[in-house]
Parts: sequence; structure tokens; C-alpha cells
Amino acid sequence: MGPQVNSHHNVLIVGGGTAGITVASQLKRKGITDIAIIEPADKHYYQPLWTLVGGGLVNVESTERPMMSVIPKGVTWIKDAATGIEPDGNMIELSSGRFIGYNYVVVAPGIQLNWDKVNGLSETLGKNGVSSNYTYDLAPKTWENIKKLTTGTAIFNMPVGAIKCAGAPQKIAYLACDYWKRNNVLDAIKVILVLPGPAIFGVPQFAKPLMDVVRRYGIEVMYQSEVVSVNGDTKEITVRDLANKDAENKVIHFDMAHIVPPQSAPDWIKDSKLADQSNPAGYVEIDKHTMKHTRYENVFSLGDAGSSPNSKTGAAIRKQAPVVVSNLLSAMGKTATQKSYDGYASCPLVTSHNRCIMAEFDYEPKPTPTFPILNMQKERYDMFLVKRYALPIMYWNFMLKGRA
Ligand SMILES: Cc1cc2nc3c(=O)[nH]c(=O)nc-3n(C[C@H](O)[C@H](O)[C@H](O)COP(=O)(O)OP(=O)(O)OC[C@H]3O[C@@H](n4cnc5c(N)ncnc54)[C@H](O)[C@@H]3O)c2cc1C
Repeated sequence: MGPQVNSHHNVLIVGGGTAGITVASQLKRKGITDIAIIEPADKHYYQPLWTLVGGGLVNVESTERPMMSVIPKGVTWIKDAATGIEPDGNMIELSSGRFIGYNYVVVAPGIQLNWDKVNGLSETLGKNGVSSNYTYDLAPKTWENIKKLTTGTAIFNMPVGAIKCAGAPQKIAYLACDYWKRNNVLDAIKVILVLPGPAIFGVPQFAKPLMDVVRRYGIEVMYQSEVVSVNGDTKEITVRDLANKDAENKVIHFDMAHIVPPQSAPDWIKDSKLADQSNPAGYVEIDKHTMKHTRYENVFSLGDAGSSPNSKTGAAIRKQAPVVVSNLLSAMGKTATQKSYDGYASCPLVTSHNRCIMAEFDYEPKPTPTFPILNMQKERYDMFLVKRYALPIMYWNFMLKGRA
């Protein structure tokens, strides 16, 4: 006999991040009762602004709110971390050892940052000129490092594999260059961007204007390359050539480095029956259109933890959430409507302190602009304002409340 459940909910949501809170709010608006969210953190973060924190344009405190303030009224908050799921027995195990049962589960614990996959990185993070916009604590360090640098070498990287906000690794390079340019020191700084793929961006329509930005700032791009180690003491970064296995690794001296770590599903998801076995990153295996698990009828997933091959962004979640909600209601027999997600994602590619290329695209990938009458394949001031001001307002006041 399996373990006994300590409590049970109609809909259990794992993770009170962008995806979990949005889905909970929308389900509540549809009249669904007995919803619970498993979430260990005290704070909820609007991560898209961490790029602007690193670029010195936004205060980090403005990106966080108490978790309590975003959990919809009437939804139960289980303040604990999920450590396992038994989908055949419809239950989740918590770090406290308790088991919670469910009729339906929405799995949205986000993505795992694998700092240890880059040798030496954990030891030097936040020191020796090394930072990362990928955490609340480290994003302000990026700005400190940018401000301090007046000469030398700055390295920015994007790791191999799917990551959240694939544009973030290059956006911070552009913000740094813009700052150095405005302070007349850019010519004295060698800027290197290490990318795993053969192009600056996966959607050709946006890669073209981005190459103009790269040329304007004089950035040296190392394509098909990967940062494999960071030595904070000697200030050296080792880069592997992914296109040529026999090539010797390059060792580059740096004065500042912005490092984005490799990412994957959280370990407990990877080790669970929900994982996509065809991908070592182990995301929750869902149908890319219905967001329903491919093997379990009452399991849904969205956001960074799901296997759907969209660009992992909050913008994608805005389009995924109504699909999950509709298909969940349909599974409950409450509606006949089935919805389908087309892979929409948006990446506001900030290129300076007042310009942004608003890249919106779907699975194909083809551009899917919200404002088709505007030319979105160029740097725009109005889109910078959207990124800096309109999207945070939309996020806190509409999306998290299930109204967008
Ligand atoms: C630097 C940066 C820049 C970005 N820029 C943009 C952008 O410009 N535009 C955009 O749309 N997106 C951007 N994103 C991506 C966006 O923030 C994420 O895609 C989005 O937050 C994913 O939502 P999620 O709910 O899947 O995960 P998250 O929002 O990360 O939430 C996951 C939640 O699950 C909780 N959790 C973790 N483990 C467990 C567990 N075991 N049990 C229960 N709960 C757990 C966590 O505490 C967290 O609250 C950016 C991200 C970063 C880091």
C-alpha cells in the first residue's frame, strides 16, 4: 500500500511564480473552488526587470512583492516545497514529508539554474567582477561591475540548451556597451559575447537588426562556443569550441563577466514519471498545443518547467495560461471548449537605455507582432517604454489577477 495523503485539493498548483499565480487567478475567476498552491518562497519576483536592474535602470526592490499579496483570495497556500510526484496515485510529496492529494495538478515550479555545471563559477559568483542577472541578489552586482569598468575585457555568455529568456544574456551586453559608450570608455573595453548557436538570434527577422547593434558597439561574437570554467582568482574564462571537438579550449582573461548558467527542469521533476525522457533537461512532458501531459490526463504544465519548445518567457505564459485553464475545465467536464497554444513568446530585446526591439514570434518561428502596423524589426523608443513601464503594470495588475 502507498503512503496516505495528509490533505486533498481539487486543483493543486506546484509553484507560485508567474505561471502558478496566473493559472490560479484564472481558475478562480471561472468559479473553480478548492485550489491550493504549493510554494516555499516568501517573495514573488517580476524577473523580466532584472535585466534593467543589471543595466542600472531599475531598483531591484521594485521587482519583488510578498507572496501573500499575489496569491488569490480563497486559494490555499501550502508553504512548502514539492519533492516528488506520484502521478499514478495522484499525490505530491512535500519536503516536510507530508503528501497532498489532487484531482488535477498544474506543475509550474520554474527552471533550475545549474551553476555547478560551469567549473569554478559558484566559488566566484558575486566576486572578482563576476555576476549574473539571473538572481535577485546578483543582478545589482552586474550594475556595480559595469559602472566600475573603464578599460579591459568584459565577457557575456549564453549557455547551451534552453534557458529562461534567451535574449537576456545579450540584452545586458548591449546595456553595458550603451553605458560605456555614453561615458566615452567603450573604445577601451573589449566586449566578447559567447553564444552556443551559429546566429545571434533564432528568428532571422530579428537577427538582422541585432547584428547592426553588435556592429555599432564593436562586440566580438564567439559563435558555437561555450563557457566551461571561470577562475575568479586568475580572472580567466575557458571557452570550448562546440563546432570543432578537436580545437583547443581558449583561455581568456576578463575584468568583468556576466555569466548565465546552464538550466534544466528541477531535479525532482527530472527524476519523476512526468519527465520528458528524450531530453536530459527533463522538462514535464506535455503536448505543445494542449499543455496536457502526454501520459497523464489530469496533469498539466506550463511556464519554464514545461517541455513545450517555445521560448521560455513570462510572455509565453500569458498565452499558455488560458489554454491550460480551458483544457483543464474541459477535462473536468465543465466546458466543451478546447484551446490550443501556438508557441507565442515575446522577447523585448533592450539595446540601450531607451531603445528596444520587441521580438514576438511563435513555434514556426514567424513574427507575431501585437502591433502589426508598427515596424517591429528595428530599435524603438515606444517599445522601450512598453518594456520598462507598461509590461510591469500589466503583470502585477492584470496578468497575476487573471485579467490578461
Ligand atoms: C534575467 C531575466 C530576464 C527575463 N526577461 C524576460 C522578459 O523580458 N520577458 C519575459 O516574458 N520573460 C522574461 N524572463 C523569464 C520569465 O521571468 C520566466 O519565464 C517566468 O518567470 C517563468 O514563470 P514560471 O512560473 O514558470 O517560473 P517562476 O516565475 O520562476 O516561478 C517558479 C516558482 O516555483 C517555486 N518553486 C520552485 N521549486 C518549487 C518546488 N519544489 N515546490 C514548489 N514551488 C517551487 C519558486 O519559488 C517560484 O516561485 C526573464 C527571466 C530572467 C531571469
